[in-house]
Amino acid sequence: MDVEEFRVRGKEMVDYICTYMNTLNSRRVVPSVEPGYLRAALPSEAPNYPEPWDDVMTDVEKKIMPGVTHWQHPRFHAYFPAGNAYPSILGDMLSAGIGCVGFSWASANLFLVAASPACTELEIIMLDWMGKAIGLPPAFLPFEEGSKGGGVINGSASECVLVSMLAARANGIKRLKHQFPNVDEGLLLSKLIAYCSKEAHSCVEKAAMICFVKLRILQPDEHASLRGETLKEAMDEDEEAGRVPFFVATTLGTTSCCSYDNLPEIGRVVRKFPSVWLHVDAAYAGSSFLCPEHKHRLAGVEYADSFNTNTNKLMLTSFDCSLLWVTNRYLLTSALVVDPLYLQHCYDHTAIDYRHWGVALSRRFRSLKIWFMLRSYGISGLQKYVRRHCELAKYFEKLVKKDDRFEVCNTVTLGLVCFRLRGGPDETKEQTDDINKKLLTNINASGKLHMVPASLRDNFVISALAHKRSFFVRMVSDPKIYNPAINKTPPPIATN
Ligand code: PLP
Repeated sequence: MDVEEFRVRGKEMVDYICTYMNTLNSRRVVPSVEPGYLRAALPSEAPNYPEPWDDVMTDVEKKIMPGVTHWQHPRFHAYFPAGNAYPSILGDMLSAGIGCVGFSWASANLFLVAASPACTELEIIMLDWMGKAIGLPPAFLPFEEGSKGGGVINGSASECVLVSMLAARANGIKRLKHQFPNVDEGLLLSKLIAYCSKEAHSCVEKAAMICFVKLRILQPDEHASLRGETLKEAMDEDEEAGRVPFFVATTLGTTSCCSYDNLPEIGRVVRKFPSVWLHVDAAYAGSSFLCPEHKHRLAGVEYADSFNTNTNKLMLTSFDCSLLWVTNRYLLTSALVVDPLYLQHCYDHTAIDYRHWGVALSRRFRSLKIWFMLRSYGISGLQKYVRRHCELAKYFEKLVKKDDRFEVCNTVTLGLVCFRLRGGPDETKEQTDDINKKLLTNINASGKLHMVPASLRDNFVISALAHKRSFFVRMVSDPKIYNPAINKTPPPIATN
């Protein structure tokens, strides 16, 4: 494909995407294919000779689309939102078009002419803009007087949690080494212990596995919120037993029910352990802090050492775009610096080199899409979107509450509503769980809606994310979804 053909095919692709978006409603939300369906539909080897582009696109529609789960479908209500606003898609296109690999600031110099100053500098500025917009304390912001803070864009919240834990681990080992210079680092590592709530995302557990450290998973309170006292008891107990607390992962907006750990309480506890790193994972809820009415849930962030949020969740931005801020960038980079000659440049000491901020060396120009989003919508436009998202969830919550066959199982703060059929007076917990499992199976098997399960206080619940208005209408009016075999009374018909 040469540039002139790309000009044509690129425009056709934009048309294909627009048609896809406009006709999404007519597709099944989830595919109905069996594992291995694509293997049977594609040749067993790569083509030896070039094929016409039209044939490729025909196969996209015939072979790929039947196996696609349509995350942008108006009736996709699973997990958290997956952004794909058009300005961010354009940002991704431009990033791919420029095709630079922004691992360092470097401009032309004796050793290195690669990387790209604009790629690094726009990222620093976008993290500054975003940090200010969501209300992070000045210690996280790169341009504040005396600040050692700053931010970086990663591919996922999991990476943000991992690199924060890596930095905390390096810092913890360094402190221990100072105290016990003759003790082997392997032994010191075996003493380190991290903490999180049972409601934390599984990426914390994965990070602990990768870091090869112990993780103590703590019981949250009845509102699925980790409390300071619970953490304090665990840390005191571990210290007494000779273990060394080094990392606490908290969550604002948990995956299963959008609960919030009690950050002010936890922060005050962690402050008593000066070498413990406090991380805040706000992968979903982070963008809600763009709105003044949600900012109170950020209270306690001033105690944190690192904070992450995914703009590809609640900020409409196309995947991948996960923002991480730290209050001490030197602690982060000292855990990750390797500096071979071929990557050095003469601005090493004055410019930020993002290759020291994460696992990957090569990095995409992701900041373009944040810049495009912020300029296209403005903070006010993004606030409007967050508010609409929350209103829809409140509306659904109201509908569920009006129907006494159902109960709402979480405190609805943003877009997530956890609900379930109530158990009958003679039903056991297992029977109530089973009837809800059947309901969820029916919902998903219909191909018309997609939702996921969650476990709340050890009960099976259905987790529904606010999306588009049609969601609510379908939920209360489709007899196939409201299977009379499961729901003994006939479904109400929604009029709005
Ligand atoms: N943290 C929380 C609170 C999440 O809800 C999720 C995913 O939904 C993650 C972390 C993991 O996100 P990612 O897929 O970006 O690694």
